[in-house]
Amino acid sequence: MKICIFWHRRDLRIHDNAGLAAALASGLPVVPLFIYDKEILAHLPEKADARLTFIFDEVEQLAQETEAAGGTFLARYGQPLQVLEQLVKDFDVATVHTNEDYEPYATERDTAVAKMLQEHSVGFFLYKDQVVFAKDEILTKSGTVPKVFGAYHKAFIARLTDEMLLPYGSKGDFKKENLHHVSREQAGPRPTLQSMGFERKAQYYPPAKLPAERIVRGYHLTRNTPANEHGTTRESLNLRFGTLSARQVMQQAKALNPKLLAEIIWRDFFMMLLWHFPKTATESYDPKMRHVPYRNNEDEFRAWCEGRTGYPLVDAGMRELNATGYLPNRVRMTVAGFLVKHLFIDWRWGERYFADKLLDYEMANNVGNWQWMAGTGAISAPWFRVYSPESQLAQVDPELEYVKRWVPEVGTSKYPAPIVEHKFGRERAVEAIRAARIAAS
Ligand SMILES: Cc1cc2nc3c(=O)[nH]c(=O)nc-3n(C[C@H](O)[C@H](O)[C@H](O)COP(=O)(O)OP(=O)(O)OC[C@H]3O[C@@H](n4cnc5c(N)ncnc54)[C@H](O)[C@@H]3O)c2cc1C
Repeated sequence: MKICIFWHRRDLRIHDNAGLAAALASGLPVVPLFIYDKEILAHLPEKADARLTFIFDEVEQLAQETEAAGGTFLARYGQPLQVLEQLVKDFDVATVHTNEDYEPYATERDTAVAKMLQEHSVGFFLYKDQVVFAKDEILTKSGTVPKVFGAYHKAFIARLTDEMLLPYGSKGDFKKENLHHVSREQAGPRPTLQSMGFERKAQYYPPAKLPAERIVRGYHLTRNTPANEHGTTRESLNLRFGTLSARQVMQQAKALNPKLLAEIIWRDFFMMLLWHFPKTATESYDPKMRHVPYRNNEDEFRAWCEGRTGYPLVDAGMRELNATGYLPNRVRMTVAGFLVKHLFIDWRWGERYFADKLLDYEMANNVGNWQWMAGTGAISAPWFRVYSPESQLAQVDPELEYVKRWVPEVGTSKYPAPIVEHKFGRERAVEAIRAARIAAS
């Protein structure tokens, strides 16, 4: 019997899933699939990884839901191209449906998969799911890539309709008649963490799967208070792995809080930029910023990583990141600004450290925000702007509630003196960048 494979990637949900809804409506029985990508897993820094544990639990949940509905869920560990080619040989596959992914590795992978499937006369269908506007759907009036968030946001809001945020398909479509059931033998065993060479690490902060209305309504007032764990939605992990539809969160924000809507639009914006400029994953967008003589002092980098800089907000942030895999936005900005300006260390070092530690690590958002802080991006804070970590602290945590949670020794003799003096660090970075920009022009 001819079947349709639905390949889950960063959309680990059944409800409101554009590609899955299309697969279920295609008239062919659907077999959902997840591939644990060997190449991606090979780069994980530790054997016990909280992100992989999260993915594994969500995939198992999907498998159970599929079986409860009368279908079979396939899970494989390997190289996606090879896994799919093998499945095409093992089953009578007519089509493969999946959702678009805009990261450089993913677009290359999908190009190779499309070619292979075409050689086997299998249809390959991609859907927009993780963003509302993708690729070049929003351009400037002169047809160029928008590099000013204000203008992009304005165009986004002008075109955003309630219909665009309606869910795809309905829960009732995920039923026996639309799914394909195969024998246990043919389905093969699903990989376990152990079989892939990993261990469990349940470090992730509990995902809310749609923020409480109270948080959304008060978001603009509470978003910059790191001591308040309910000051922001904390949906970034769900949005990263698609355990929650971005449309659903946007719908809620559109109805209740324009500031939150604007923050979520940043996510679409950075994904659009990364798709247009894939090299910026590892290279400064601004050519004048590509030869900045960063100091890259390894001891100072280690002090930053471990939260031993003598700046309480920076240290609290890094310790929270190391312990939980999460960091509130304002603190992400403070620690990033401190690394690239005061310590004058290459933004890519910080970007990589965040990539290893953040549970919600999202290449587009991470690279976009790091380049913003370093003043190197397509869209950036001015390169000469240097935020004082002390004034940041006074603004966001004046009672030291957040700081004392993570740095209990602050104010005692056990706490180190500042690793660099603010004014000295600022001038050192600004002068060196100014000279590098003049040399490059
Ligand atoms: C240096 C630095 C690195 C960052 N790295 C990441 C990352 O790897 N992954 C990531 O998801 N976010 C990243 N951000 C953006 C932001 O800090 C997080 O999205 C946010 O803190 C997550 O918490 P939340 O879900 O409670 O956010 P909320 O404030 O509740 O926002 C809701 C959602 O909007 C989106 N969003 C909010 N702020 C931003 C922003 N500045 N840029 C892009 N999207 C945003 C996120 O998807 C977020 O989940 C980074 C920010 C900085 C300054």
